[in-house]
Amino acid sequence: MLEDKFGRRFHYLRLSITDVCNFSCTYCLPDGYACDSDRDFMSVAEISTLVSTFAKLGTSKVRITGGEPSLRKDLPEIIRQCASTPGIEHVALTSNGYKLEKCVEEWAEAGLDSINISIDSLDPRLFAAITGHDSLDTILRGIDKALLLGLKVKVNAVLMRQYNEAEFASFLNWVKSTPISLRLIELMQTGDNVTFFQKNHVSAEPLKNQLLQSGWGQVIRDKAAGPAQEFYHPDYAGKIGLIMPYSKDFCHSCNRLRISATGKLHLCLFAEEGLNIRRYITAGDEQGLQQELVALLGDKEASHWLQDGLTGATKHLAMLGG
Ligand code: SAM
Ligand code: SF4
Repeated sequence: MLEDKFGRRFHYLRLSITDVCNFSCTYCLPDGYACDSDRDFMSVAEISTLVSTFAKLGTSKVRITGGEPSLRKDLPEIIRQCASTPGIEHVALTSNGYKLEKCVEEWAEAGLDSINISIDSLDPRLFAAITGHDSLDTILRGIDKALLLGLKVKVNAVLMRQYNEAEFASFLNWVKSTPISLRLIELMQTGDNVTFFQKNHVSAEPLKNQLLQSGWGQVIRDKAAGPAQEFYHPDYAGKIGLIMPYSKDFCHSCNRLRISATGKLHLCLFAEEGLNIRRYITAGDEQGLQQELVALLGDKEASHWLQDGLTGATKHLAMLGG
């Protein structure tokens, strides 16, 4: 089992398969994707070695992310490979939803269990202003299709003072009749978005109080759960999750490790440049990789330093997948 010196166990792998993205979200890639880094992404065979090794070390859940993972043509194969790995019980995907309506059946057939789709506004014009794409309608149709196929659906919305702060009521209204889990995420500072962050960061703490005061109860976390505090209400078909990376003790329950699309291990979203483990992956050396992962985990720190404005080598989250 992968366990660090603080007793945290790592059941959950976030696997980036590309850093390329077709959207230009205001807080992430406001000028769009710049092809300024190495694009030698891991192949399906390499991903297979990696996931199998993690599974042998106790990982039960893989989340495929990016950049925009659906831009990779071999995404169905990658899903199938993860889903067929002994020990992997849950395969999830985080996507901007651009290809959801067209491809979700194929992804489900390949073994996908759940999907997180990013929707920062339910107002089509505001959605287009945030992402650079007028595609809210197709994304919402894609979500309906995913639900019909039996996938678990979460929706990620980043809270931004100048954009969607007033949308809490419309999000709640949506969740009333739609069985999704809506994750409201506090904007995080990255190397590239300092000014945007200063103008737009809002704490989710007041929303938590609002939920608790209006009959919502807090769900107890599962061992492989993500970082959200989740809330349910008997009158609502869906749930609300709050992701508050600036809250005290956020890192205590960390259960995930990250791998970049080029095969680097990131012990934290806001850490170093990434630790290069590609040679073991490419060689198919599962035993060497296991030993290396266990050794490198010894350097995982207790917490990120975001509260102090330290964002490590993370220029934007498209680099690694959020
Ligand atoms: N392109 C896919 C998407 O947007 O869902 C996957 C990658 S994206 C980096 C993963 C998640 O991180 C998205 O929900 C996105 O909204 C969120 N994200 C990106 N930058 C962020 C930031 N600075 N603070 C908080 N969340 C952020
Ligand atoms: Fe692309 Fe996702 Fe970043 Fe938006 S948040 S620019 S969709 S990687």
